[in-house]
Amino acid sequence: MIYLDYQATTPPAPEVVHAMAPWAGERFANPHSPSKWGREADAAIEHARDTIERELGLERGRVAFTGTATEAINWALKGTIEKAPQERNRIVTLATEHAATLDTCEWLASRGYEVVILPVQSDGLVDLDIAREAIDERTAIVAVMLVNNEIGVIQPVSKIARMAKEAGALTLCDAVQAFGRVAISEDVDLVALSAHKIHGPKGIGALWMRKGAEPAELIHGGGQELGLRSGTLSPALCVGFGAAAKLAGERATRDQDHVGKLAIAARDALGPEWTVNGSLDCRYDGNLNIRRDGADGARLIADLRDIAFSLGSACASGSGRPSHVLRAIGLDNREARSSIRLGFGRYTTKKELVEACRRIAEAARRQENVEA
Ligand code: PLP
Repeated sequence: MIYLDYQATTPPAPEVVHAMAPWAGERFANPHSPSKWGREADAAIEHARDTIERELGLERGRVAFTGTATEAINWALKGTIEKAPQERNRIVTLATEHAATLDTCEWLASRGYEVVILPVQSDGLVDLDIAREAIDERTAIVAVMLVNNEIGVIQPVSKIARMAKEAGALTLCDAVQAFGRVAISEDVDLVALSAHKIHGPKGIGALWMRKGAEPAELIHGGGQELGLRSGTLSPALCVGFGAAAKLAGERATRDQDHVGKLAIAARDALGPEWTVNGSLDCRYDGNLNIRRDGADGARLIADLRDIAFSLGSACASGSGRPSHVLRAIGLDNREARSSIRLGFGRYTTKKELVEACRRIAEAARRQENVEA
């Protein structure tokens, strides 16, 4: 199997699995109990929290662990709106956000809040003039993704967050695909993260909250996570997230160089018939969303079962609907159907990537011949 679906999830780093093992086994104490074992588990969790905060590089805030980034995004949006003054009932977001954001916004709209969804240009980037118009004194929160999970483009989050600040609104940054890869703006107030996108375990995410910008309490109970999200934490998952964050920091330059070289090799192997969807300049190299006239992405996936790649987000792939991100950048249904996403990273070798790209290109050519 050649694994090219790094945006859906990343392979766990061996160092992460090793760090988690004792906490998944013999070190099973409840981290919130006062016993010696409990205190050790608590210390391991706090060490992981500190590591993640350090790798984020943001000042004056704290990380609260969540089950997923989806939870963190739901919490940030609903909890901010709940605390906002009545006259600030607007939420501004982008058409290319993850379902976690768009569906939460839709739910909030059904509750009477005003949701403004900004369009993006054909390169996938937001028009800052349109954003400036929408972000005003009625806005409570602006939600924007740093690295897009479907097409890899990097939004100008700093500029948007500064607009929000000037208008007195908060900014939520979905940094799920960016953490450890692209620097996160100091001007944001809330940041959603997910461990399994950075070679950590599934089932754990985090919400970084600037001091004073904490959303309303999410889960009532024992008062864990700054009294905002109750429930017993899993030391194994927290330690795994911390180990993955530490590794991402240590390997950042090496990983970035590797991914940059892989992206060039992939495009060479695919050939000139393939077009990259989204900006060529503002992008994370480990995400290559490409299309070819006459290709059928779903059939390519079916024909090449020993290569794991996808049509876009894991959620969109199952639905049979064209991706909302590809539609937002102006692709028609035929172009969207002829698109595929290749995601690669730390553990991808150039040899396997080139082999996969050649086979994908060959299969697309065969499709064209059958159609002709
Ligand atoms: N945001 C982005 C950009 C993502 O890629 C994903 C996962 O696909 C999420 C949010 C949701 O993350 P999680 O799987 O932790 O719920």
